[in-house]
Amino acid sequence: MSKRAGFFNVSLDKIISNDQSFLDQARIRLLYYGLGIVFITLAALFSNIYYQHEPMLTYTALLMLVLTAVFFKILTYNGNWSIVSHGLLILATLVNLTNVYYTLQNVNIITIQLVILVIIFSFYMLGQTYGIFYSILNLIPVLVFLVIQYNDAYFIQHKPEELEQSTLIIAIFANFILLIYIHSHFYNAFYRNIQALRKTAEDQSDLNEKLESAIQKAEKSSQAKSEFLSVMSHEIRTPLNAVIGMSNLLLMSNPRHDQKENLEILKFSGTNLLAIVNDVLDFNKIESGKVVFENIAFNLPELMQSICGGQKIKSEEKGLQFKLDVDNTLTSKVLFGDPTRITQIIFNLVSNAIKFTKEGSVVVTTRVVEDRHNMITVNFSVKDTGIGIDQSNIDTIFEPFAQESITTTRQYGGTGLGLAIIKRLLELQGLKMHVNSVVGKGSEFTFNMEFPVSTEVYVPKIDNKLPFQANDTLSHLRMLIAEDNVVNVMLMKKLLSKWNITPTIAENGERAVQLVQYGNFDIILMDLQMPIMNGFDAAIEIRKMPDPRKANIPIIALTASALFDIRERVYNSGMNDYVSKPFKPEELLEKIQSLTITA
Ligand code: ADP
Repeated sequence: MSKRAGFFNVSLDKIISNDQSFLDQARIRLLYYGLGIVFITLAALFSNIYYQHEPMLTYTALLMLVLTAVFFKILTYNGNWSIVSHGLLILATLVNLTNVYYTLQNVNIITIQLVILVIIFSFYMLGQTYGIFYSILNLIPVLVFLVIQYNDAYFIQHKPEELEQSTLIIAIFANFILLIYIHSHFYNAFYRNIQALRKTAEDQSDLNEKLESAIQKAEKSSQAKSEFLSVMSHEIRTPLNAVIGMSNLLLMSNPRHDQKENLEILKFSGTNLLAIVNDVLDFNKIESGKVVFENIAFNLPELMQSICGGQKIKSEEKGLQFKLDVDNTLTSKVLFGDPTRITQIIFNLVSNAIKFTKEGSVVVTTRVVEDRHNMITVNFSVKDTGIGIDQSNIDTIFEPFAQESITTTRQYGGTGLGLAIIKRLLELQGLKMHVNSVVGKGSEFTFNMEFPVSTEVYVPKIDNKLPFQANDTLSHLRMLIAEDNVVNVMLMKKLLSKWNITPTIAENGERAVQLVQYGNFDIILMDLQMPIMNGFDAAIEIRKMPDPRKANIPIIALTASALFDIRERVYNSGMNDYVSKPFKPEELLEKIQSLTITA
């Protein structure tokens, strides 16, 4: 707006620039050309009135002519349209009032035109507030004059001057031209503004399209990442299962002492690697929002016992005291929830507690904090006397792949995924983990979880199963194994040969269904991921067979362990049980025995 041009430079280009808004540019243009029209009109009026010998009107016209030139100069000097607009409006108001109350002592068409001009000009040029201000400043006196005139009241002793018809014509004509000009000018300005807005909207929608496609790309790549991870971990898990399975087999064949030690290391490392792969897969699944929580009946003390059983042995091997303290009120209660995920959370916390504690104790507590009969809130706590965590790192350790320090990685190993998984699993259920830790003294991880309580009373199962042992009765078992992986087949054959079982092999689900149709089997071990037809579909087909003996053959699914929601799918497709790969030989044997004896 305040670009200074040279004094004699009156070019419009000097005071207008694209930095100014459309409206401001329109205002400057309006003043620039409008002042030209006003100047020509006034010059015409002045010469017309001069010859009519009306002194007051002549002086007024002359003064206005000079002032118009001054305003034009101010405008072209620094482009300050606002000062010039105020100047013009004040001048118009003065002329209006002088005309009505002194010079003409009348309200004629020119007065009306002038008032309309002031109203339009003030609103367009200076906005609403000044628009109202100048409108009132011009309207009220005119109205007051009309009222006074109506009452025949005279209060000024001055003979009004008469306007000749030619003066009237010039003034009226010029005013109309100004009115038309202002409107057409602002119409154009608004029109251009609307076009610019439309263009902006088009640009915006172009941008939105680009953004949308970028988001889609990002989503696709994140999906590709998830799929890649899940395929990769499956691919890694398959040979890993073979490694662990082979170690199991070798351990079962009476190795020498030194061989046994090596095999134990091999098995331990394989199992460790498998846990890492499973963690990555599970984290990936949680991140992609594919976790569904189960709601099944279970007894918490029993669950805690089974989680902590192995951990107690591990901690005692390390010389640590281990204590599991479960609230007595929970003993007879049947709760509803997701025992698999609770196991995962507690197991991870206890593993960490043992891992990061050199001496002292690990205490696991479950306390009832609120009992409302049909709902119960339980506080879980895992406390250790280990290395502790620096207060500033408490948040970081819950981030994926984060460990407290590089020394942790070196000394204790791990992936830094455990706590990230726990945190997300709790968050998905609207829960929060709390950590209390002092470096060198120990840590306590706690969280509250709410469970619906069943009306039935828990009756502990009496385990009257005989300790498993491979006996000769199994040698007559006609077993079908549906498994596509050659190494796994070999592993199974070797394992089963220890129990004198010679299985029939189907390399995919479809083949398994065919073999069941034409042959007789006592039990089927069904891998789930197979080409042509997967294990679920094969089981469904078998269960649909017309011969009830075939339709009811016991089927044990062989699952890839990391998939937590697989259990439901296994049962839904009609299979009787499942074992997770890599399975413990005793576990498989136990399941085979229990199914073939009851069948
Ligand atoms: P990981 O155990 O594989 O390293 P986690 O996510 O389970 O991964 O733990 C992240 C980090 O949090 C650990 O590396 C360790 O620095 C710290 N941490 C977890 N639990 C404890 C604990 N009980 N005592 C001390 N530090 C712990």
